[in-house]
Amino acid sequence: MENITASELAGFGVAVLLLGATITAPKVDAFISASQRSALGMCKRCGDLKVTACPKCKGTGLIRTQDPFSFNLMEDINQYFGSPQSKANSTPCTKCQARGHFSCPDCSKISKV
Ligand SMILES: [Zn+2]
Ligand SMILES: [Zn+2]
Repeated sequence: MENITASELAGFGVAVLLLGATITAPKVDAFISASQRSALGMCKRCGDLKVTACPKCKGTGLIRTQDPFSFNLMEDINQYFGSPQSKANSTPCTKCQARGHFSCPDCSKISKV
């Protein structure tokens, strides 16, 4: 009985350790990568790409508009054949002026100095 209890406790302890490692690992990784970037003189925000992707259009510069009266199948066919009509379903992103990215505010600060 004692052995079973001990192994159960050990298993529980390992499970807690694994669970803790799983939860903390991404945070630690993000922290390290951020500090590594700054240590290398790289921009923390963009990693020296000088631009940050637009969160609204995900870097494409276009917002896909969903037409409730058209089927997705028709949209897929239009895209497959490269029909210009499919472009009508996208509008330029107003957030980034259809550029798909912003110049990194951190880097632009540095470049001005
Ligand atoms: Zn955008
Ligand atoms: Zn930057």
